[in-house]
Amino acid sequence: MIYCENCGENSSVQIQETSASYVLRREIFEIKENHLFCTKCGREVQDKDDEKKRQQRLTELYQRRYNMFPEDIKRIRKSMRLTQSEFADVLNMGKATIKRYETGGSLPDGVLLGVLRVLRKNPELILMFFEETKAGLPEKERQRIEEKLQPLMQKRLK
Ligand SMILES: [Zn+2]
Repeated sequence: MIYCENCGENSSVQIQETSASYVLRREIFEIKENHLFCTKCGREVQDKDDEKKRQQRLTELYQRRYNMFPEDIKRIRKSMRLTQSEFADVLNMGKATIKRYETGGSLPDGVLLGVLRVLRKNPELILMFFEETKAGLPEKERQRIEEKLQPLMQKRLK
């Protein structure tokens, strides 16, 4: 029994499974959803959590499509021994953005998603970004990052 706003009382419902397409980050995802219909008036009964659940499902599908989950982003950064703010500086991004990606608060898309996927396979490519951004960093931070990236530099030389 679910409360039907149209009938103004609790009513039994019929479940109908439908498949619908949604757009997230300019990409189309198809998801199956259960819609509930009041058996008395035939109207759809909305669940307050529907929209939230749908967004969660879409987020999961997006992460799965690219196999890029928040913990992957953290792992990529940690494999370079960089802090969130160092990683952000090297990539010329805001620290808050990196933090949101690592906690699942938002999804990387477009160019950055591509960059993360490339870095996962070839972490030493972070050095190319560092080459571009290091001139704009404070001396101390630049040195600190350089030290941390040393193992990757060695790897590249081999
Ligand atoms: Zn009803």
